[in-house]
Amino acid sequence: MAAGNRWSIVPYTMRLKETLMSTDVRRVAFVGLPCQAQFLRQMKMFPLMESDFASKIFVIISLFCMGTFAVESFTDYLARNYNVPLEEVENIDIEGDYLVISYSGKKLRLPIESIIYHIQHGCILCPDYTGVFADISAGRASREGYMLILTRNRLADNIVNNAAHDDYLEISEATEEEIRYAREKALDKLNRSLKYIMRIL
Ligand code: SF4
Repeated sequence: MAAGNRWSIVPYTMRLKETLMSTDVRRVAFVGLPCQAQFLRQMKMFPLMESDFASKIFVIISLFCMGTFAVESFTDYLARNYNVPLEEVENIDIEGDYLVISYSGKKLRLPIESIIYHIQHGCILCPDYTGVFADISAGRASREGYMLILTRNRLADNIVNNAAHDDYLEISEATEEEIRYAREKALDKLNRSLKYIMRIL
């Protein structure tokens, strides 16, 4: 299991390119979001002669993603509507259809739909939940304490099976219920993007 993560907006692609073009770096496993997995897959499939930095990426791993917040818009919303200033926020988690914000020993549960307008515009239009361009996708499972891992080719199967064999991962077959849960999330995101795309057409 991952130890957690911290989200912010950074000049990601530029730093990735700098890192990959370093002669010290020979082969990397990339972990990112579905949009980044798509971009890097396209770089691998259709490399630009002058900046073929994706060739060093040996496997692409995507996290499941429902979107990222426009940070200032969202933190301002929390402060104005719930009197929760950013400096008091300890953790943000997703439980089912709710965003759960922990602060000062308390918890605030917000329905995802109620905060949709604080998600980045590009994310509202994005249809990809699992990262269909990745070799491996991983994200929240309905089983407490576990992640759902999708392998999309033989390379991905080998990586996951070898990691399990060497005790880096504990794996078991996903149940139909767990697969249905992920499929519903993927469909929710697809439908959301279609709904908002229709509004701007
Ligand atoms: S919702 Fe789409 S565009 Fe937004 S961060 Fe996730 S994968 Fe990228």
